[in-house]
Amino acid sequence: MSNKFVGAHCSASGGVYNAVANAQKIGAKAFALFTKNQRQWVAKDLDSETIDKFKRALDDSGILPKHVLPHDSYLINLGHPEADKLEKSREAFVDELQRCEQLGLDRLNFHPGSHLKLISEDECLSIISESINMALDKTSGVKAVIENTAGQGSNLGYTFEQLAQIIDKVEDKSRVGICIDTCHMFVAGYDIRTREAYDKTWDDFGKIVGFNYLMGMHINDSKPPLGSKKDRHHSIGEGEIGLDAFRFLMNDERMNDIPLVLETIDESIWKQEIELLYSFEN
Ligand SMILES: [Zn+2]
Ligand SMILES: [Zn+2]
Repeated sequence: MSNKFVGAHCSASGGVYNAVANAQKIGAKAFALFTKNQRQWVAKDLDSETIDKFKRALDDSGILPKHVLPHDSYLINLGHPEADKLEKSREAFVDELQRCEQLGLDRLNFHPGSHLKLISEDECLSIISESINMALDKTSGVKAVIENTAGQGSNLGYTFEQLAQIIDKVEDKSRVGICIDTCHMFVAGYDIRTREAYDKTWDDFGKIVGFNYLMGMHINDSKPPLGSKKDRHHSIGEGEIGLDAFRFLMNDERMNDIPLVLETIDESIWKQEIELLYSFEN
């Protein structure tokens, strides 16, 4: 039995329960989804019928709640320098956590935030930590899982140090985690292409952040080169990272029992990509 739980970010169009069916169609053992339209601020509340249908579908699928990694809306900026916009983001984030809670899920993946060149990096990172503290206070059971970013524009969270700095100011450390996106990691300057580079990068992660915080991963190859800080995903083996990194990963027990989610560009080959990744296991 494999200890790896590989899947993809599945469409929840027509209802969150559809994401479960879409995951099953591609042979996924894990998946990600948006619990509301990711490009809109407001969504109608999940009704009890939808919640029941999701829970039943998930139960029937055999996929465990801890292997589902919902992603929050792209509009949310928990480090926003302007008070009114920060407030709006914080409210929306609490709503996202509550939706996960209602669906019986235990983790929510989000991008930390952007300083928009209006405040310093340190100030922005502190605001993000404070946003997490406030949201965790208002909810229960769901962990806030910070995704590392590509470092494009003024997005923070592209170095392990920045991720550690956010966690450092979170009061309840049992409810904060990290999701590492391999494309973001690579374009942010962390090489994983050779055995040596892979070991060095993950040793650094272990020392600076800690594997106890690793609650999920996004498995993507990258179109742009190492250190380019450009966020453009590619299919596994088609980009600048190449197959070896994913072979190392599939045999790395530190990635056991967490959702490993494809966000690659051609969803018509997700089934094959999942099979390919499983074929790497020794
Ligand atoms: Zn993301
Ligand atoms: Zn990602």
